[in-house]
Amino acid sequence: MVYTAENNRYESMKYNRSGRSGLLLPAISLGLWHNFGGVDTFENGRAMLRRAFDLGITHFDLANNYGPPAGSAEELFGKMLKTDFAPYRDEMIISSKAGYYMWPGPYGEWGSKKYLIASLDQSLKRMGLDYVDIFYSHRPDPNTPLEETMGALDAIVRQGKALYVGISSYSPEQTAEAIKILNDLGTPLVIHQPSYSILNRWIEDGLQDVLEENGVGTIAFCPLAQGLLTNKYISGVPSDSRAAKSTGALGENEITPEVIERVRRLNEIAADRGQSLPQMALSWVLRGGKVTSALIGASRVSQIEENIAALDNLDFSDQELQKIDDILTV
Ligand code: NDP
Repeated sequence: MVYTAENNRYESMKYNRSGRSGLLLPAISLGLWHNFGGVDTFENGRAMLRRAFDLGITHFDLANNYGPPAGSAEELFGKMLKTDFAPYRDEMIISSKAGYYMWPGPYGEWGSKKYLIASLDQSLKRMGLDYVDIFYSHRPDPNTPLEETMGALDAIVRQGKALYVGISSYSPEQTAEAIKILNDLGTPLVIHQPSYSILNRWIEDGLQDVLEENGVGTIAFCPLAQGLLTNKYISGVPSDSRAAKSTGALGENEITPEVIERVRRLNEIAADRGQSLPQMALSWVLRGGKVTSALIGASRVSQIEENIAALDNLDFSDQELQKIDDILTV
């Protein structure tokens, strides 16, 4: 059936500015790392993308290697752009990345100019796009000079293949250096994509300060800790969950009795707030306005609907925050 986006799609979503840039991102964005690959059901991916867009999610995050097989999530998204989203391209922020292994030989991963430019050209072909809105260096490369990696990002913008550039999983020190190099080149860093959740707070130890001081936005990946911050694993591993899938990145060994005990107690706090645990986990990531967008994944439409409702309650009392912290320190 031909897709027409909901007329009211901009009525309830919140849009936050990425740092001091002109770029507004939805408070909740959707990533295509899992469940949009060649091994997954196309119609399910399509239904999720349509519903997300109808709910005001304008930002879709991809990378060269998402699938599996690597590249297939970009292919699926390209197909969607042709069949469903063609009239809406200018209402969307589409990102891709390069950094992890993509093809054999010395030019198929990390941070050289050779790899980043070749990889983005491949991504654009797979998606049928002239440009992406944001292009990221997916991870720091210990062996390539940062000047070269940032120089490649600058070149990509000048070639018109990306509008904005970002970095992912760079340390506070590497980020400060990247910001300086990019400023000198005249292509400012617009966004950093780090992992961040109630269970994983590394960005609070320096990175957030660097980003705030320099007016760079933050989009937090794995805000639900890949699904751990839901109640699904409390009484075992459901067969349709990420942890049960051979292609899922969440290992059953990560679901320890200690984690489950914490999740059980976090669930109680969420219930007292009138939220589900995933809703509270997303509100927590967005609390206080430091994070521009929470970048979720989903395996079905209902999860997107549930997660979006987190935006109805983004405020925490000091007492609630303390209770959450206490759970993590026992
Ligand atoms: P999340 O932490 O949001 O986990 C998403 C998973 O949690 C879903 O696939 C689903 O798994 C489960 N889930 C989501 N909502 C609910 C719900 N309401 N109830 C129950 N279960 C739920 O994020 P991801 O790990 O998927 O990562 C999100 C995005 O971040 C990626 O798609 C990618 O774009 C980006 N990313 C970037 C990285 C980087 O290096 N820059 C690294 C990793 C991710 P299930 O299958 O169990 O239903």
